[in-house]
Amino acid sequence: MQDVMMAAQALYSEEQRMLLDNFRRMAEAEFVPLVDKYEKLGHPPNAETLKGLFVKCEEFGLISGLVPESDGGLEMNRMTYGILYEELARIWPDLAIAVLIQGHAALSLSMLASPAQKEIYLAPLMRGERIGCTCISEPEVGSNVVEVKCRAERKGDNIYVTGQKLWISNGAQSDFAVVVCNLDEGISMVIVDRYDDNGGERYQVRELNKMGLVGASTCELFFDGAETTADHVLGKSGGGLFQTLKLFESARVFVGLTSIGIGQAALETAVLYAGQRSQHGKLIGGHQLIQGYLADMATQLDAARLLCQRGLQLLDLGVRCDTQTSMAKWYATEMAVEVAGKAVQIHGGVGITKEFPVERHFRNAKIMPIPDGTTEIQKLVIGRNLTGISAFS
Ligand SMILES: Cc1cc2nc3c(=O)[nH]c(=O)nc-3n(C[C@H](O)[C@H](O)[C@H](O)COP(=O)(O)OP(=O)(O)OC[C@H]3O[C@@H](n4cnc5c(N)ncnc54)[C@H](O)[C@@H]3O)c2cc1C
Repeated sequence: MQDVMMAAQALYSEEQRMLLDNFRRMAEAEFVPLVDKYEKLGHPPNAETLKGLFVKCEEFGLISGLVPESDGGLEMNRMTYGILYEELARIWPDLAIAVLIQGHAALSLSMLASPAQKEIYLAPLMRGERIGCTCISEPEVGSNVVEVKCRAERKGDNIYVTGQKLWISNGAQSDFAVVVCNLDEGISMVIVDRYDDNGGERYQVRELNKMGLVGASTCELFFDGAETTADHVLGKSGGGLFQTLKLFESARVFVGLTSIGIGQAALETAVLYAGQRSQHGKLIGGHQLIQGYLADMATQLDAARLLCQRGLQLLDLGVRCDTQTSMAKWYATEMAVEVAGKAVQIHGGVGITKEFPVERHFRNAKIMPIPDGTTEIQKLVIGRNLTGISAFS
């Protein structure tokens, strides 16, 4: 197994391999003990703990890595960033999701924020002092992002945001929310601080109970005339839809990489078990059908990894690549469901118990084809780009 991974990593540069080794050492020492802890607790870390975890990740550039140096970021190439991100997802995908949201909040602030906004939001976010969340989805708005109902009204120098947001990652620990809402004539992004000067909450948060990734916060957020000032519009007023779609282009590859991390963990545990369990007088890893499963899993995993790594390289080139990032997202997330499912099968009965990590990998994998555009929506994006005909609004 180790040899297989090392051969694939021969394509990485010496620097990338060293970074990966150092990151793995840190993450295994610091994060592995927390995986079980939060799995048993059944809820995500609180804001202070998450900020501490972000600081550890930022030692390797995982929060500011996508932000240009001119904005105080590390400006890593996405391939290197992606190699570290996949490893984090292998070890603790729940934290990887939180990092993805924080890292992409930093990316969108660096692309869209005014100098004053960058000072207040971007710099503390990269230092892990403040946590941001991005609010697009609503109870009646999921795949149909253009139909956002949440609204914002200007009154004098202020803006008041009203509406309900659903499935918001990092919502529980957030210090501010970037809310996609209707402002003036079009969909816009508005920043709302969670706490006012007296510590009162401008928006309320309810954690949702998920089947997997229980250490990642996913919340319902309620805005009832939440007050912010007019200088809190992020980017262009009315440009929120385009800005959101641009963000999806990058985030989708990282959702794919999260699945690759989960799938890799499932493959590793299946190989280990197949080398320990005997039936019919020999190790199950010696049965041809089990080897067939393992070969399928490893090949699908590598195919997904290569699709995602191509997406990272295209994003670095700055070319439009929504077709390729949609391919990477749907294939990698569906692949991980299959790989984790086969890993459970290889474990037989023990695979469905909490005594073995493989059931957690399966529950985690099953979530990933949903966020940032479901598999069906990714296929519609690819189909639209191939035909020039949109099957959805
Ligand atoms: C773990 C997790 C984290 C998330 N984090 C965030 C976040 O931080 N911020 C945020 O804003 N949102 C977040 N989301 C929300 C996520 O983006 C939505 O769940 C997703 O867009 C799907 O929307 P929906 O759940 O409303 O499903 P729906 O849109 O209701 O879809 C239901 C089903 O119908 C299918 N469907 C819908 N329309 C079509 C069509 N035109 N053709 C064919 N099939 C169709 C879908 O593919 C799906 O299978 C998160 C979700 C999850 C699970």
